[in-house]
Amino acid sequence: MKKKVLIVGGGMAGCASAHVLSNKKNFDITLIEKSSYLGAGVRTFTYAGHPYTFGPRHILTQSKEVFNYINKITPLRKIDMNYLSFIEKDNQFYNFPLHFDDIKKMPDKKKIKKELKNRNLIKINNAKNLEDYWINSIGKTLYGKFVDKYNKKMWQVESNKLIDTFGWSPKGATIKSGPRKAWQTSICAYPKKLNGYNDFFDKIYNYKNVKIKLNTDFEVHKLKQKSFYINGKIKKFDIVISTISPDFYYKKKRNTLKYIGRDFHKIVMPSQNVLPKNVSFLYYTNDETFTRIVEFKKMTLHKSKTSLIGLEIPSRNGKHYPLPFKSEINKAFGFIKSFPRWFFSIGRAGTYRYAVDMDDCVEQAIEIGKIINNDNYSSPLPLKKWQDLN
Ligand SMILES: Cc1cc2nc3c(=O)[nH]c(=O)nc-3n(C[C@H](O)[C@H](O)[C@H](O)COP(=O)(O)OP(=O)(O)OC[C@H]3O[C@@H](n4cnc5c(N)ncnc54)[C@H](O)[C@@H]3O)c2cc1C
Repeated sequence: MKKKVLIVGGGMAGCASAHVLSNKKNFDITLIEKSSYLGAGVRTFTYAGHPYTFGPRHILTQSKEVFNYINKITPLRKIDMNYLSFIEKDNQFYNFPLHFDDIKKMPDKKKIKKELKNRNLIKINNAKNLEDYWINSIGKTLYGKFVDKYNKKMWQVESNKLIDTFGWSPKGATIKSGPRKAWQTSICAYPKKLNGYNDFFDKIYNYKNVKIKLNTDFEVHKLKQKSFYINGKIKKFDIVISTISPDFYYKKKRNTLKYIGRDFHKIVMPSQNVLPKNVSFLYYTNDETFTRIVEFKKMTLHKSKTSLIGLEIPSRNGKHYPLPFKSEINKAFGFIKSFPRWFFSIGRAGTYRYAVDMDDCVEQAIEIGKIINNDNYSSPLPLKKWQDLN
């Protein structure tokens, strides 16, 4: 008997799952997507001939397996990405993340050095929230310049004391004397082709055992009986891989998990390049409404007399970022834990983890492929790496 698999959502996690499971001959897979295309924000579109995605979407991974997996389907080019932060008070750009060498260039360097000398290691390690952690580890002045306003706008909060988990701004990754270690040991890459990751999404159409349904209405009929409404018709499945917010499956609690969205703007500039050579992003840590800009050419290598900039403004539109609050993460885990053993909740929204990036989505899909090879698989929370709060 063929096993019927339902994949909910055709973003990176859903499409990676379809690739992985398509190898299994006894699986009959249906992927449903509510919009009219696959890939979600990672899909490449063009504007004035410039390829772009919704925000930057380069791969940054520590996993060779993940790199090789994507590279086989859509060839990747390794790239070097450098970022700067703009500090209005100093009218200067400095390295992002924070770098010791930059302090020499700051007008208030004496005060900053004094504050750095007085750092309290015990307080840093016991910090309960983002504000405590950063003030104790870099001092008030650097906190005011780099961390305070940026995080408040990023998460749309009045106080950084509300941010009480560290996946977003990890303990240990404060001020550096060299590039961030995680970046030195990671592979940074972008698709070679100008259509970006679109082949990764669209090659799924080639698989005989995968049916793709776009513009699809999806509702739960009886979850425990594996029964769902798809475009109004009741359908049953053996395995579900869901990449959408876990509260969707509980009608009375739907939309209880909080997210931050993004408004995205495209701006064409009248020069071949806008940002300095080797700089791909600029972060804005002041009173601006936007958080960062990216120059797409730095990733796509598209040739043109003009250059396309993408600008992101945090907003209430969309479910792009799960919040780094313990209360929300615990609420999400409550939903995920109550799913049956044949129901996998993966991807950024599915795991309710900001730290789940594109590479993690692929890694999770590969892991599910391995888990369900064994008929006795169990556990609604198989993906341990993404469970802890720190
Ligand atoms: C602005 C921005 C920039 C980013 N930049 C990077 C980066 O540079 N590098 C990186 O690694 N990561 C980046 N990320 C994160 C990364 O892109 C995401 O973690 C990843 O793409 C999430 O994929 P996903 O499949 O889990 O979710 P999504 O991409 O959200 O896909 C979920 C899909 O489910 C569909 N859907 C929703 N509800 C339903 C429903 N009821 N029925 C059917 N379908 C439904 C949606 O339409 C969507 O297509 C960025 C994220 C953002 C927001």
